Amino acid sequence: MHELMLAESVVRLVEDTARQAGAKRVTRVRLALGALAHVDPDALLYCCELVARDGVAAGAVYEVDRPAAEAWCANCLRIVVPAAAGASCPDCGGFELDIRAGEEMRVIDIAVA
Ligand SMILES: [Zn+2]
Repeated sequence: MHELMLAESVVRLVEDTARQAGAKRVTRVRLALGALAHVDPDALLYCCELVARDGVAAGAVYEVDRPAAEAWCANCLRIVVPAAAGASCPDCGGFELDIRAGEEMRVIDIAVA
C-alpha cells in the first residue's frame, strides 16, 4: 500500500529529527501534501499513527497543509490552477499542462517535548 510506505518514510524522518534534538516525545507533525499528490490524506495519517505507535512520535497530532496546484498552460501561456491531477486547463480546456506545484509531499516541521 502506497500510503503505508510514505508513512514509514515520514515517521522515520520525524523520529530521526526528534532523536537528534534529544526530544522525549513528538507532539505535533506538520506535513505539506500538495493538492495533486496522489495520496489520500486520511489514509496517510492513519498509517502514520500505526507506524509511529511504539516510537517517540506516538500520539503526535498531525496537521496537513495542502499547497495549491499550479501548472503552466502551453496554450494560455500562463500559470493556471488545475482542479485535479490529470485535469485539463480550467481556462482553455487543453491538456498541455506542465505541473509546477502541488505534487509535493514533505515534513514542514515538528514540535517536540
Ligand atoms: Zn489553458
